[in-house]
Amino acid sequence: MKPSFFFYYLLIMGAALVSCAGAVPIVVDYTDDPVVWNINKPLKVVYVGSFAQTGYDLVLMDGEKKIALTNKKFTVTPTNLTVTANYPPDMPLPVDDGLMLKLTVPSMKSNLYSATLIPDFENPSIKILAMSPAIKKGGSGVVIFEARDANMKTVTIKDNSKKVFYAQPFQADGYYICFIGWHMKQPAYTASIYAEDVAGNLSMLPVGFKTVDFKYPVGKVDLDKTYEKDKTKELGLSETNLQGVDKYKVIQQELAAQSKVNISQLTSLHPKGIIEGFTLKAFKPLLKLRGTSAFGKIREYFFEGVKQKESVHMGVDLASEPKDSVYTSNEGVVIFSGYNGGYGNTAVIDHGLGIYTIYSHCTEILVKVGQTVHPGDKIAITGKTGVASGDHLHFGVLVQGVYVNSEEWLNPYWIQTNVTKVIDQAKKLMK
Ligand SMILES: [Zn+2]
Repeated sequence: MKPSFFFYYLLIMGAALVSCAGAVPIVVDYTDDPVVWNINKPLKVVYVGSFAQTGYDLVLMDGEKKIALTNKKFTVTPTNLTVTANYPPDMPLPVDDGLMLKLTVPSMKSNLYSATLIPDFENPSIKILAMSPAIKKGGSGVVIFEARDANMKTVTIKDNSKKVFYAQPFQADGYYICFIGWHMKQPAYTASIYAEDVAGNLSMLPVGFKTVDFKYPVGKVDLDKTYEKDKTKELGLSETNLQGVDKYKVIQQELAAQSKVNISQLTSLHPKGIIEGFTLKAFKPLLKLRGTSAFGKIREYFFEGVKQKESVHMGVDLASEPKDSVYTSNEGVVIFSGYNGGYGNTAVIDHGLGIYTIYSHCTEILVKVGQTVHPGDKIAITGKTGVASGDHLHFGVLVQGVYVNSEEWLNPYWIQTNVTKVIDQAKKLMK
């Protein structure tokens, strides 16, 4: 396709930029080589350095043939140089290899800047191979797809809450896997795959998840004098004469002050590099699994019978024997180990592919940051540190920083249907 072309324009430092509506230029630094040019957009070359010159020429060299892009003569010499040009409308397409971009100045024999030029006017291709059969409100899903481009830059999934999930290269060149999380506060869910090449050619494909609505319950949490006593000791607060709600407020303030990391931020890091042979088992952090407080519950906290606050439960509470052993079921790397405010003693494990698990309210964490853990490793001892009135384990899962329904990840059937089968199905379609 011949590039649409409205008018030439050029930009000199300090002068106003005139451009075609919506055509954001491709910006290249004068050290970039090669330069990949999306020929439907202007190209902006930024030269930073001493520039005591009377003018410049920006040209394309097609072998010996010189094609002028833009030039300028100065009356006042700028310190640095920004040159913007459009792709020549009469340049035949497709272009052979061997195009060069050159920035020359009148007084110099050599080029001020020279780079191999690759015209790119093709959008990346995207094709979905396999995906979760359905995604539940507050829950997780996965998509495995093919995205190809000679000069790919970023491959992401963006959902209707504007959350961006980074896809990870999977198994072989051109294939990607991406786990996503539907934040439970987002009423509906849609997501699209975006693939963009270095020249700014952008393709988008809606994922078309089948969505299942879910109503999260409301519940009550009672905190009492025992809680006040326990926390005073745990947080090292002095035995002041504060009583009741006043004391509760001091406890809450201290818990916030001792909240070292933002778990969501900590787990927003996106995976890089190609991953092969990903398998995941259902998590089973305690030998006996019995839920006592569901994920997503809107919890009203009462202290001595008076409502204090409301918050959403971003994990599942599991009943434990006092000082029960906590195990990890999948390989991972410990990224947090320590006391973290309301979560108490906590461990956070990175399992790859943007999947993280969190274990909270423990008496003790037995693993250190940077340590690799293996299925069956004992990682912690349950307890009631942080906002907890009795010994239990709070188990949470985050997908690239989004708290998701951790109950799904405890369920072998869910893992089989939404992870194992999807990966197997996609592998069969890969070349
Ligand atoms: Zn909990």
